[in-house]
Amino acid sequence: MNIEPGFSADKYWNYFPKLPLRMAPYFDRPKNLKSIFLHILNTWNPCRMPTWFLVLAILVWTFWTPALTRASSFSFDWVFEIWLRDMILMLIITGGSHLYLHTFEKQGTELKYDKKPLETNSKRFHFGNQTYDNMFWTLTTGVACWTFWESLLLWGFANGYASLITFDSNPVWFIALVLIIPWWTYFYFDAQHRVLHTEFLYRHVHSWHHKNKNMGPWSGLAMHPVEQFILMSDTLVFFLISCHPIHVIYDLIFHGIGAPLSHTGYDKLKFGKRVQFDLGDFYHQLHHRFVDTNHGTQDTPFDLWYDTVHDGTQEGTAALRAKRRTKSN
Ligand SMILES: [Zn+2]
Ligand SMILES: [Zn+2]
Repeated sequence: MNIEPGFSADKYWNYFPKLPLRMAPYFDRPKNLKSIFLHILNTWNPCRMPTWFLVLAILVWTFWTPALTRASSFSFDWVFEIWLRDMILMLIITGGSHLYLHTFEKQGTELKYDKKPLETNSKRFHFGNQTYDNMFWTLTTGVACWTFWESLLLWGFANGYASLITFDSNPVWFIALVLIIPWWTYFYFDAQHRVLHTEFLYRHVHSWHHKNKNMGPWSGLAMHPVEQFILMSDTLVFFLISCHPIHVIYDLIFHGIGAPLSHTGYDKLKFGKRVQFDLGDFYHQLHHRFVDTNHGTQDTPFDLWYDTVHDGTQEGTAALRAKRRTKSN
């Protein structure tokens, strides 16, 4: 039975999207080609993140990236320019959405998932404050990791260690890569996240991110530095395939900006009555609430394979608790 989106009487949620959450139609049996086609088309809906990120990546490469000729050897000036640009983007986009949604509460609680506000007095967090803790790890090591991976790839292009194509030299592969990158980032996120949930890595590394049971934009990259480094290391793939710096910048925007925007705690960002952008990720919000479920995304298969999907319904929560009881017996 479908449950329409709306306000919830559930003890955790103020708002939920349409339930049960469905996995992408690639995993349906039997396969429905029309649903798969519509799903892919919807990925490129102008109100969704892959489209904004692509526009941002093109703008960043065109107007705000050092020329490759400067990147043939590492030097402070061009690496600093990248760091400064990443920092400014982070402050404007992540900081702006935090101020809009959580500080000035411009949407109130409309489309906000969790009933509770962000934590302002908790020993779990550095400085005793969730937002300060989250900002600290994002703006220090988070932005530094983003800059590190991007600088490494630009240096690779400048020295021929990464194989450079342009739109003119290979338009088909150029566009194909643009289409593949969103899915690649989801797939890689899912795979490495699952490894981070093994006992040792969870205790020493990933538990930092899970301090955030409820979340805001700054929670997206609020992680142990080792996790930030691993999360963005998917860009190593660009040393193995022919590509353009736009592809690298695009991939890293999914982590640098995509992670904060998928952790806003709101389903959509609304401006006035009409304009709204998809933000939230209730599937991942459930992961933060329950931890041992929804490790990946609705577009990747591992949760289905490992039977760890929570569809957001109260029956889903009951099934999860039953699974835990069976495991502990
Ligand atoms: Zn998260
Ligand atoms: Zn996790």
